[in-house]
Amino acid sequence: MSHERQFYINGAWVAPVSTRTCEVMDPSTEEVCATIALGDRADTDAAVAAAKAAFLGWSQTRPEERLTYVEKILAIYEKRSEDMSRAISLEMGAPIDMARRSQTTSGTWHITNFITAFKSMEWIKPLGPHAPNDRIALEPIGVVGLITPWNWPMNQVTLKAIPAILAGCTMVLKPSEIAPLSSLVFAEIVDEAGLPPGVFNMVNGDGMGVGSQLSTHPDVEMISFTGSTRAGIAISKAAADSLKRVCLELGGKGANVVFADADEKAVRRGVQHCFNNSGQSCNAPTRMLVERSIYDQAIEIAREVAAATKVASAHEAGNHIGPVSSQMQYDKIQGMIQKGIDEGARLIAGGLGRPDGLNRGYFVRPTVFADVVPGMTIEREEIFGPVLSMIPFDTEEDAVRIANDTPYGLTNYVQSQDGAKRNRMARRLRSGMVEMNGQSRGAGSPFGGVKASGRAREGGHWGLEEFLEVKAISGWAAE
Ligand code: NAD
Repeated sequence: MSHERQFYINGAWVAPVSTRTCEVMDPSTEEVCATIALGDRADTDAAVAAAKAAFLGWSQTRPEERLTYVEKILAIYEKRSEDMSRAISLEMGAPIDMARRSQTTSGTWHITNFITAFKSMEWIKPLGPHAPNDRIALEPIGVVGLITPWNWPMNQVTLKAIPAILAGCTMVLKPSEIAPLSSLVFAEIVDEAGLPPGVFNMVNGDGMGVGSQLSTHPDVEMISFTGSTRAGIAISKAAADSLKRVCLELGGKGANVVFADADEKAVRRGVQHCFNNSGQSCNAPTRMLVERSIYDQAIEIAREVAAATKVASAHEAGNHIGPVSSQMQYDKIQGMIQKGIDEGARLIAGGLGRPDGLNRGYFVRPTVFADVVPGMTIEREEIFGPVLSMIPFDTEEDAVRIANDTPYGLTNYVQSQDGAKRNRMARRLRSGMVEMNGQSRGAGSPFGGVKASGRAREGGHWGLEEFLEVKAISGWAAE
């Protein structure tokens, strides 16, 4: 990769002012796979200045012009999809086939859905028949800072950069320092699409450096952040003095409520979903609430699924799960598994240490705990690894109470053949999203949470609106 030690500022690859660097580790081998430059204040300032200078022109472009650029980005993204999959697989450990099938294509999916939503946007519209000279206009918020995590790198980058471009904002992207390689490819794609200089800028850096510099920068109007609840709180506080809009997509601790009348594949599907991406998804269904009459049977299925889940290098082809992203995440997950054991949960699959035959790489054993009691650490805290907690319940009322008794509120899941019960549950669960009977949400559906999961909505119309201001106009002349 030729731009690892450069930043993309004002339409060109430039040498950093900062001399700091950071090693990117391949989680499958624990070896250094790249060294990137880490920016500092002068680099952040240069990128923000370029975005500020470009804003006036870009914000005045016609929507069709911005659409044409994004359609070009989509075409180049598809052309570069193999480079993208390899970068993602290397930097964060998604098995190469999964990176191709899910990680890279999540970007294609979001770009496509934004294009669809954008085509039906009304940029200026009447307030209503009672006020014939009033207009409501949607306008870009200004320079935006985009701060992204490592777990679904292109999912997150496209959910931010694409609507920002379409809305008429200019931006500085700071990807995760743990997974920066895919964003280097993304910046090359945007460069090839030929956007006017300064519209899109990318500076690598860490949270304390470029991340907090963007969050406090007087010329940045908004921060769109995806990552931990801890960093979301820090960013909100840092951004308060300059009154920025802060859009947060944070962690989760999703409940998957499996009723006795669930379809026969429900438990298997739930365990596999929890382990997908090695458990490193904010919307993972990590708490499986099972109606007591099928609880023992569900435990047996979960045990089988965990035992059958193959763990192997991200570089191998196949349907396995890969390592977790870093030594830090590996240690954190091991600590959580130990806590589960110490606090008295029943370990029925997996456990401490690496899977047999793997003595190098951040590989975690697919782990299932049964008899998890609400309030235990593994029930409360996000683990971000392939670790499932199973909890029995007796009544629908019980299930709702346990599911909602969490600081988080991102996605909850319901499994039942009873439509009326499903609909009741969907309305009672406190979360930004509810997915039922294994049906994923449709194109353009908003992604986001409530409570400690953040309150942003990304994707489709709602995702575009995050980057827009509403302007109320009176005295508009008839056209
Ligand atoms: P993280 O919060 O450590 O880092 C995320 C990003 O924020 C990185 O780019 C990091 O450099 C930056 N950052 C860290 N501290 C900062 C600070 N004080 N100021 C400014 N920037 C800062 O999170 P992570 O470990 O990369 O990602 C995992 C977390 O992300 C999990 O908690 C997961 O649930 C969450 N996540 C949420 C969603 C969602 O949409 N809700 C999606 C993916 C991941």
